[in-house]
Amino acid sequence: QKPKPQQKKKEGAALIGIDVSKSVDLAEWYQQVITKGQMISYYDVAGCYILEPASYAIWEAIKAWFDSQIKVRGKVRNAYFPIFISADNLEREKEHVEGFAAEVAWVTKGGKSDLEKPVAVRPTSETAMYPYFAKKIQSHRDLPLKLNQWNNVVRWEFKHPMPFIRSREFLWQEGHTAHLTKKEAAAEVLQILDWYSDVYQELLAVPVVKGTKTENEKFPGADYTTTIEGFIPATGRGIQAATSHCLGQHFSKMFNIIVEDPTTKEGSETKHIHVWQNSWGLTTRSIGVMILTHGDDRGLIIPPRVAEIQVVIIPVGITAKTTPEAREQLYSEVTWIAEVLRSVDIRVETDFREAYSPGWKFNDWELKGIPLRIEFGPKDSEKHVVTTSRRDRDNKDEARGETAISDLKEAIPALLESIQSDMFKKADAAYREHRVTLTDWKDFVPTLNGKNVVLVPHCEGGKCEDEIKEMSARKDDGDNTAVDTKAPAMGAKSLCIPFEQPEGITPGETKCVNPNCKDFAKSWVLFGRSY
Ligand code: AMP
Repeated sequence: QKPKPQQKKKEGAALIGIDVSKSVDLAEWYQQVITKGQMISYYDVAGCYILEPASYAIWEAIKAWFDSQIKVRGKVRNAYFPIFISADNLEREKEHVEGFAAEVAWVTKGGKSDLEKPVAVRPTSETAMYPYFAKKIQSHRDLPLKLNQWNNVVRWEFKHPMPFIRSREFLWQEGHTAHLTKKEAAAEVLQILDWYSDVYQELLAVPVVKGTKTENEKFPGADYTTTIEGFIPATGRGIQAATSHCLGQHFSKMFNIIVEDPTTKEGSETKHIHVWQNSWGLTTRSIGVMILTHGDDRGLIIPPRVAEIQVVIIPVGITAKTTPEAREQLYSEVTWIAEVLRSVDIRVETDFREAYSPGWKFNDWELKGIPLRIEFGPKDSEKHVVTTSRRDRDNKDEARGETAISDLKEAIPALLESIQSDMFKKADAAYREHRVTLTDWKDFVPTLNGKNVVLVPHCEGGKCEDEIKEMSARKDDGDNTAVDTKAPAMGAKSLCIPFEQPEGITPGETKCVNPNCKDFAKSWVLFGRSY
């Protein structure tokens, strides 16, 4: 039996497009979306990936925004420190080195000869930077010292690597600051967390929950860690989106970063203060979270504020009967429309490729996630309009609209903004729906299996957390349909203690959700399977 023409067409389209559904096989879908959408190319060192121009442009957009916040409002200055760290320095803060030991890559050879002392490749730069801080900070007048680096780090992770989300080398910014008082350091930790939240919510249209990490999950060597936690609805797993740490005086004690106490009275013995330090980092993981959140079965969907190309204009309605003059006329009108949009700072591309049909081009730009398509043909020209199609809408009729040529300068920027805000609203609704508050242990695992994260009363104890992880690990009970089957049978860990706490915990009365735990709950803690 011959295939019906319709089926044949679909097979052809599948070749350039995504041929697996996001809801059926997320891992395969992700792999296709990032490669066919030209975000990532694979590389022959495991866990390392090529960031192609389309994804690097998103990183540049994040960088431009965040860099201007920290410089202008945060008074942070950029600097660069070497990629190598001596073993002596790396090992100076005990908890820190223990936390990172398993992931540090070491250079042991230079050419053919063994190094006398191997040097570490930075997994993070506290121990590379703080000997310099000790030298630079001689007086309280040298405070605050606020430095940031845009660089790469290497963490030789043994967990399953995943492009953007968990790679062995990744790009990030790492801010490192020193303050005279704990209060000043603590205020900065929160200011940075707000800006991280803005990067996700305002630029990438990805919702996050702000909170503090439990003792178990805090950064090695930190006093406390604040975090923004994201969520991947397709798997129901949480993901640590970015972290801002208050390091307290742990590192300043190890690296001897001290100043004279400015409140020392004249004549009395000079007191010294160990400075209060923070460190904070946001990585290229953010791009992966954005892709997983918004992408659909047609490919990527890039939020307009970070899209390298916000609008693509495709000439349509050209047939065999169209005269060369009429075609030239249409093309020059398309070029003119692009210029009008560029004049109001919209990033526009025109697609005049002759070898492809408009339909093929539509699929191609949809795959790449360009937020808005403008179609322009002889009929539009006659009516003095353009036809628009927004990438974030599934339904064709809902996606399409018409804009008068005379309104382009106002209407198209407004349309892009409404795409941006609708993308956020949709993702935010999904996260809210899958953040389930519960108090009874019997609901804990079934709720996780329903692709949710859970907000539960918890004692904040480390051992209790380990127990919960153990008890919520998916046993081979035949029911592994609920969560992505390719994920390891993982238990739930604490994601954060959200700043926003619902009512309902009475100290000394409310029980910890773990039925084996004798302690009372201290707060509502967000638990989930996670990346
Ligand atoms: P940390 O310095 O350990 O707090 O890490 C800062 C941020 O980096 C975390 O909040 C994660 O979002 C992100 N991150 C951690 N490991 C990786 C990795 N292997 N690849 C990409 N991003 C990562």
